[in-house]
Formats: sequence, structure tokens, C-alpha cells
Amino acid sequence: MSMVVTQPCFGCKHTDCVVVCPCECFHEGENMLFIDPEHCIDCEACIPECPVDAIYHEDNVPEEWHAFVQLNQEMSKVCPQIT
Ligand code: SF4
Ligand code: SF4
Repeated sequence: MSMVVTQPCFGCKHTDCVVVCPCECFHEGENMLFIDPEHCIDCEACIPECPVDAIYHEDNVPEEWHAFVQLNQEMSKVCPQIT
């Protein structure tokens, strides 16, 4: 299980989420961030930090953004880590 970054992250430059992550799970894509599900420990610290509510627990991702579960998995492997 893991947190998932979804659509509202598109274009965000705040990265408040990154600062609180104890496991350096975030990776920076061209337009948004992605969480590496293999390193996320489900602490949920990042969820309240996101001003646009882009981060969801894998089990709670809204239906219309379900594709982001796989997208985070794939993109976190190829995008550079952001700390
Ligand atoms: S997850 Fe939220 S705070 Fe973090 S970069 Fe995306 S929109 Fe910004
Ligand atoms: S839930 Fe915790 S470990 Fe996972 S991405 Fe958020 S802050 Fe990092």
C-alpha cells in the first residue's frame, strides 16, 4: 500500500509534501510529482500538507483518477528523486 499523487498536483510548485516525507518517496516529473510505492511507509504525513488535496491513500483514490495508481508506480522509477 502507498500514497498516490493525483491530477490536482499538475503544475504545483509548492512541494510542501516533499518536506515532511521521512522516506524521500517523492520523484519529480515534468508537470507533477510521483510517490514511489516501494518506499512509502503509509505514514500519511504528506496528505494534510498538500494545499490542493492531490494525495490519497491507494485505497481512497477517487474513481476518475484511478489511473494515477499505476502512473505513480511507473513514473517514480524513471523520474529523479526530489528531497
Ligand atoms: S502533492 Fe500537493 S503539495 Fe505536493 S507538489 Fe503535488 S500539489 Fe504540490
Ligand atoms: S505517506 Fe509518508 S512515507 Fe509515504 S509519501 Fe507520504 S510522507 Fe512519504
